[in-house]
Amino acid sequence: MFGWRATDGVLWLEPLLEAALPVRCAFTTRWAGQAGGPLNLGLAQGRRDEVLANRARVLRALGLAEAPLVTVRQVHGKRVCVVDERALRRGVAATPADALVTALPGVVLGVLVADCLPVVLYSLAPAVVAVVHAGRKGTEKGVVLSALATLQRRFGLAPAQVFALLGPAIGPCCYVLDERAVAPFRRQGEAWRQFFCRCRDGQWAMDLVAANTLQLRQGGVPAGHIQALRLCTVCNQRYFFSYRAEGRAAGRGMALAVLRLA
Ligand SMILES: [Zn+2]
Repeated sequence: MFGWRATDGVLWLEPLLEAALPVRCAFTTRWAGQAGGPLNLGLAQGRRDEVLANRARVLRALGLAEAPLVTVRQVHGKRVCVVDERALRRGVAATPADALVTALPGVVLGVLVADCLPVVLYSLAPAVVAVVHAGRKGTEKGVVLSALATLQRRFGLAPAQVFALLGPAIGPCCYVLDERAVAPFRRQGEAWRQFFCRCRDGQWAMDLVAANTLQLRQGGVPAGHIQALRLCTVCNQRYFFSYRAEGRAAGRGMALAVLRLA
């Protein structure tokens, strides 16, 4: 279950997790309220001062005004950036990666999205949180599996301890691709049939949520630990930025996740 939340004119979606859980997570919308313009959070898509002000506005709305927000240089790959004390000091904004993981409470992790699927992973004991940027390319490379592997290797987490939240993304209703996009998935085995659906004239509809849910299940995450929002960013352009619908100039929303300070 996910709920809409609004504070000071900033609108976002949040999974309805038990208040006692050590993790907090939010998926931003394009709405910053009547007074503000669109809530673009991507530095490459707007004026730096405006984007930084927008990011600060979101953190304030979430009650995280003092918390550091950590992002990476997203490259549609499968590399995972572990945010420990050293990485936090050094800064990782220029690090090419598509997933961030931390066990540090109070450090907000963010990935930017406009149609791509944001996935938040977390565990309770030990408390660890991750955010993953999974578009078609990242899904092809198995970025979610790569994040699970890091959770296991660096934090000793068994996949059965991991919970997953899948945010807004372009849905199979709107994500129509040609054969070239399907081919790399075909080469990986038969699984592609579970998330590609033939539409017309050699075109295929891709279901990013289904593809990543399958990877999570294959990676050992229990079905009951996986929650998907299933809101299409193209059908719901009123709320979300969409690269497909708006082109290169589309702003970016963000999936944010943080471990609560004790
Ligand atoms: Zn749609």
